[in-house]
Amino acid sequence: MRFSLWIGMVILMFISCQSDQKETQPTSSTQPEQHEYAIAIHGGAGYMKPGMFSDSLEKAYKAKLKEAVTHGNQRLADGETAVTAVKETLMILEDSPLFNAGKGAVFTHEETNELDASIMDGKTLNAGAVAGVKHVKNPISLAEQVMLNSKHVMLSGKGAEQFAEQQNIEMKDADYFFTEKRFQSLQNAKSADKEQASLLSEDHKFGTVGCVALDQKGHLAAGTSTGGMTNKKFGRIGDSPIIGAGSYANDKTCAVSSTGHGEYFIRGVVAYDISAMMEYRSLDLADATQKVIQEKLKELGGDGGVVALDHYGDVSFEFNTSGMFRAYANDQDELEVGIYQNNNPGDQ
Ligand code: ASP
Repeated sequence: MRFSLWIGMVILMFISCQSDQKETQPTSSTQPEQHEYAIAIHGGAGYMKPGMFSDSLEKAYKAKLKEAVTHGNQRLADGETAVTAVKETLMILEDSPLFNAGKGAVFTHEETNELDASIMDGKTLNAGAVAGVKHVKNPISLAEQVMLNSKHVMLSGKGAEQFAEQQNIEMKDADYFFTEKRFQSLQNAKSADKEQASLLSEDHKFGTVGCVALDQKGHLAAGTSTGGMTNKKFGRIGDSPIIGAGSYANDKTCAVSSTGHGEYFIRGVVAYDISAMMEYRSLDLADATQKVIQEKLKELGGDGGVVALDHYGDVSFEFNTSGMFRAYANDQDELEVGIYQNNNPGDQ
């Protein structure tokens, strides 16, 4: 009896020693590297394949992505806030006719351009958004003004433009937004009535733009800007200006910008869902984005992807289409630019 008690105590001591060892195991080998700052962008997700664009067009896309991400990264290196870096980076993409935002926006059924944008500060959970504006050169800068200088989160249409004028935001006549390529896409979509299938075809000019950034103070921000979907009607608004669907940032978890078929991103509350997976289920960024884009969004029937950044400055480009225009840069001077699925020719 005494002997078996003694054996029992020895076993107990052994078990408790083992579990102590487990708890004190160093975790540093699994901890991701902490970047001082980092930035990532997307220029839209879609069914692009190697060989689909001419060499010169592919080069032009990559050059613009590189210019934008390099600018944002430099601003972060200079000590700028994540919010400013996101805004300025997106303005470069909005000014390019290559992307479906600002100057390159797609056309509505009525042959107008209606622009949507949102921005969110992960430090304060402050946010601003605009929807259906027709004359604002850089909708992302108006979204920032809504966040900083109004009591509201989202303004739309004429009211948003009145506010833009009060804030001295640059306005343009409607013809500034005209590009032959987008107009042709609208004609194609109309003639074949491809409204529903447009994201799956070449006529959907993928090209919504999004940006996420981590600044030197450890704050995250996210922003998204778009012309929406070709041939949209009835004042349709997608996910891009909707906080939690198109953009979300929270210093506790991550910053996310979405692109794809907006109706599904709204229903899936995609950007917030990724953050919630990290906050409530302790998933890391890669697992959270994978779960939401490859499982939950797909089950709903949604096409598209996200760019997301966590507080380590690690990036996730997750998309369930064959491509997503994208780029990443950080404090280590790492620079990545890609279009197709990983390892496809054409990616750098
Ligand atoms: N998400 C955008 C929208 O539905 C379009 C896109 O990202 O391509 O308006």
